Amino acid sequence: METSTTLINSAIALENQYGAHNYHPIPVVLSKGQGVIVWDTEGKKYFDFLSAYSAVNQGHCHPRIIDALTKQARELTLCSRAFYNDKLGLAEKFVCELFGYDKALFMNSGAEANETAIKLARKWGYTKKGIPTDEAIIVAVKKNFHGRTTTIISASTDPSSTSGFGPLMPGFKIVDYDNVAQLEESLNDPRVCGLWIEPIQGEAGVYVPSEGYLKEAERICRNNNVLLMMDEIQTGIGRTGKMLASDHEDVRADLLIMGKALSGGTMPVSCVLADDEIMLVIKPGEHGSTFGGNPLAAVVTVEALRVITEEGLINNADVQGAFFRSRMRALAKQTDLVTEVRGKGLLNAIVINDSPESETAWNLCIELMNHGLLAKPTHGNIIRLAPPLVITTEEMDQSCSIIEKCVLGFR
Ligand code: PLP
Repeated sequence: METSTTLINSAIALENQYGAHNYHPIPVVLSKGQGVIVWDTEGKKYFDFLSAYSAVNQGHCHPRIIDALTKQARELTLCSRAFYNDKLGLAEKFVCELFGYDKALFMNSGAEANETAIKLARKWGYTKKGIPTDEAIIVAVKKNFHGRTTTIISASTDPSSTSGFGPLMPGFKIVDYDNVAQLEESLNDPRVCGLWIEPIQGEAGVYVPSEGYLKEAERICRNNNVLLMMDEIQTGIGRTGKMLASDHEDVRADLLIMGKALSGGTMPVSCVLADDEIMLVIKPGEHGSTFGGNPLAAVVTVEALRVITEEGLINNADVQGAFFRSRMRALAKQTDLVTEVRGKGLLNAIVINDSPESETAWNLCIELMNHGLLAKPTHGNIIRLAPPLVITTEEMDQSCSIIEKCVLGFR
C-alpha cells in the first residue's frame, strides 16, 4: 500500500509530468476541506489563507451549498440555453433583486464575465452612444488583473501576462490606477465606451485606492456618458466587509462583473448585471456559452449568496479583518521583514521587505505551510492573506499566532 508521503510525492510528480507548467504551486497536496480548514493527504491540517483566490468565501464544502448542489445534480445539470430550464429564471431574479439591476447574464469563469462586459460596453457604445464602428475604446488601469483570455490580456500591463502572446487586441487605453486627473482627461474622448476597474486590485497585491477614488470614477463616467465596468470578481460577495467593495463608497456600476464566490467554490459561475438599456443591446445569437446559466449553477448561486447574507459573513469579514490588520500592524512594528499591511475586510496583504525577484516571500510561505497555514506570494514580495469569511475569532487568533511566529522566527 502507498504511504501518505509517497502519495504526496506521486501527486506532485504526476502534475509535473502530465500537467502544463502554467502554475507554480506551494508544495502541499490537499485532499479535504471544511470551513477554514484544509487537510493534506497525510491528514495534516492547515488554515486556508487563500480561499482559492477568494472563490471559497463561504468556507470549504459549505453543507448548505453542497446539499443544494447534490440535490440539483440528481435532477438536471445542463440542458443548454437552447431550452428554458426551471432554475435559471429564479437565479436571475434573485441576483437582480439582491444587487438592484434589471438583468443578469450568467457565464462560467471570471474571464468570460469580463469578456461579456467588454462586448456589452462596445455594443452599447456603437448602438447607444454613437461611437463610429470599430473605434470604441475601453479605459483600463495599470496593474489590472481581469483574467487570461487574449482580449483581456490586451489591457494588461504585466509582461508575464502578455509577452509571447501577441498580437494583442486594440481598443484599450491604460491610465494610472487611483488617479482622478487621468480619468478626467481620458474619459472625455467621445470614443470611450467604458471604464474597467477593480475596486481593490487583488491580484496586483491588494492595492486599495484612496478614499473617494471610486466615487470620482463614477461621477466622471456619468459626466462623459461612459459605462462604469466594475470587476468585483475577487472583491465581491462579502470579501471586503461589504457585499461589494463598491459599496464602501456607495458606487453603482453600470456593468457589475462577478465570479468566484458566486458558487462558494463548488463550480465555475460568473455573472454580469446591468440595466435593460445596456443588457438588451446583445441579441439572440450574439453571445453565449454552453454551460452559462445551467440549472446546477443557478441553484448553487442562490444558495451560496443566501449563505453569505443569512450567516452574517459580511459583518464577520469586517470584524475579523480589522482584528487581523491590527495584529499584523503590531507585528510589522516588531520586525523589518514586513513593511506594510493593507487591505479591507478579509482581503489583506503583507508586503515583505525584499525585491519582487527575491525568494523571501516564497520561503516565508513555506514556513507558514510547515506551521499549518497556507498562503502564496503574488508579484514576488507581497503575500495575500484572505481566509474564508466563516473564520471564527479563535481560528483567526490561532492563525495570527502562526504568522507572528513564522515572521519573527524567519531567517
Ligand atoms: N477578475 C479578477 C479581479 C480576478 O481576481 C480574477 C481571478 O483571479 C479574474 C477576473 C479571472 O477569473 P477566472 O480565473 O475565473 O477567469
